[in-house]
Amino acid sequence: MPDCLFCKIVAREIPAQLVLEDAHAIVIKDISPKAPTHVLVVPKKHIDRLSSTDDGDAELLGRLQRTAVAAAAKLSLKDFRLVTNNGRGAGQSVDHLHYHLLGGRPMEWPPG
Ligand code: AMP
Ligand code: ZN
Repeated sequence: MPDCLFCKIVAREIPAQLVLEDAHAIVIKDISPKAPTHVLVVPKKHIDRLSSTDDGDAELLGRLQRTAVAAAAKLSLKDFRLVTNNGRGAGQSVDHLHYHLLGGRPMEWPPG
């Protein structure tokens, strides 16, 4: 297993606040929330970032969006933002693919 924070959370080696789990992903509360609701959709498979995926990951990528919809429903979010930061210059700090699901306040556009 890579020395990876989110792999360790998936393996329950590091604790996190679990919102939802399905066959492919976990959804956890972000430790430093940037909105009243801020959770992370984390695939159980280690992939560094979105640009590291290949065609074989297409189904997983679709499932992650469906998991985000399920998490939004569970968290009673009607309006939400789903975003991934791809690379340091885009704000990625954990090198394991994840989507931020944010809601509970008005969202500005464009994001900073
Ligand atoms: P990014 O900067 O896009 O890679 O997102 C990584 C996110 O993981 C940040 O929003 C962090 O606040 C969050 N984070 C870091 N460590 C933990 C942790 N142990 N549990 C939950 N979220 C975390
Ligand atoms: Zn990982």
